Amino acid sequence: MEEKVFDLVVVGAGLMGSAAAFHASQLSKISVCLVGPPEPKNRQEVEIFGCWHDEGRVYYRISPLHTWQVVSSRSIERLANLEELTGIKICTKTGCIHIYKDKKKHEENIEVSRQLDLEGQDISHTWKNIFPFLNMPEGASICYEEKCAGHLNPRRLVEAHQKAAQLAGTHLLKEIVMTVRPSETMMHRWEVVTESGTVLQCQQVLVATGGYAALKPLFQHVKPGFVPKLELRTQTVAFLQISEEEAHRLWRMPCMVIRHPFKNLDGGYVVPPIKYPDGKWYVKMGHGRAYEETRSSLAEVTHWYQQQSGVPECVQQLTQYLKYLLPGLKVESVCGDGCLTSHTPNGEPYIDIVAEGFGVVLGGNGYGAKCSEELGRLSVHLTLLGEWDSDVPRERVRIIWEAETVNKVH
Ligand SMILES: Cc1cc2nc3c(=O)[nH]c(=O)nc-3n(C[C@H](O)[C@H](O)[C@H](O)COP(=O)(O)OP(=O)(O)OC[C@H]3O[C@@H](n4cnc5c(N)ncnc54)[C@H](O)[C@@H]3O)c2cc1C
Repeated sequence: MEEKVFDLVVVGAGLMGSAAAFHASQLSKISVCLVGPPEPKNRQEVEIFGCWHDEGRVYYRISPLHTWQVVSSRSIERLANLEELTGIKICTKTGCIHIYKDKKKHEENIEVSRQLDLEGQDISHTWKNIFPFLNMPEGASICYEEKCAGHLNPRRLVEAHQKAAQLAGTHLLKEIVMTVRPSETMMHRWEVVTESGTVLQCQQVLVATGGYAALKPLFQHVKPGFVPKLELRTQTVAFLQISEEEAHRLWRMPCMVIRHPFKNLDGGYVVPPIKYPDGKWYVKMGHGRAYEETRSSLAEVTHWYQQQSGVPECVQQLTQYLKYLLPGLKVESVCGDGCLTSHTPNGEPYIDIVAEGFGVVLGGNGYGAKCSEELGRLSVHLTLLGEWDSDVPRERVRIIWEAETVNKVH
């Protein structure tokens, strides 16, 4: 493998990287290598994690932010093709309700939906007829996005993109990348060096390592002293285990995106019952800005993931909120977990070229699962072909750098 020169090496085999490898593999005469570790079996033994190590991520199209509305729409409309191509089921269409305390924001959402023909319905006064098993906060404004909304399985999405990419000839290397350095020969442009000593030679490289882009010295040769500006925010999730009978009772339950406070929480999101690999059913709830904390070094991030609990007080609050939304829910047990989302200063993703033949796709801002298919495509077309074919203005997704601090990069 070391003698081969790839047209493209994608660093990071998570949601965006796997989508990017798939799209590159669909271009003719392009050789691709996707590098990144698989999901760890035991979190105590590793220091690199991914945001896709779960069974449920909410997807929907209505968004007040133009970029996320565009990229989520393009992504979601193609997921059925990917399911067909690979035979892997990714999406569960449950619809999604957006719950607002602020009536003005709700009306803005309805207006976005109307302008873009997304068919969001104002069910503020009729929700009880549609979802009689739910309880909504008093006076809440509610938009029901019935079409092209529900939850997707991020593990299956990664698997599907990788399967389709491999069918088209992509190599998959399950290693962690230490750095990317310029080549000293004219035969290839970049060398991707892994922690176990493999050196991959390539003409183009695309970094899609999520929050770890700022925690490993991947950019030390291309932008010495700087790292992509990404704020890593902790996310706690509460898993409420329920019986199969309860799961069947709630079979019509939609996903929920909640911008309405409850006790210490300012909002959150809910994923309907899913059967997890342990054979048990769980309803899941995560939070909004309340309880988010920042993590800025690799050691802090590793510790957060290895705790595998999230913030216990937050798990309690989420449990109470979920029981309020689902009156009479029979809960058998509760557990928490922690993950991290990476945020850019302007809330836009980074899709950019940082040096000749060196692209990046980073900054999911909490929306990266439902948008990864399109973010991967855009980044590959930009890196390999120099093309930008999107309604999102190119200027919006430029990378922002910050000076590297001593303890940030490993
Ligand atoms: C609790 C939680 C809930 C969420 N809910 C939603 C939701 O409902 N809807 C939604 O759309 N989004 C949601 N998200 C966000 C979404 O999961 C992320 O935005 C998305 O996963 C980002 O994709 P990514 O490819 O940038 O990062 P990841 O999916 O994390 O992939 C990055 C990959 O890079 C690899 N990597 C890192 N460093 C290296 C290295 N040095 N060498 C090689 N590989 C490396 C990692 O192993 C990982 O696999 C949620 C996130 C969390 C944490």
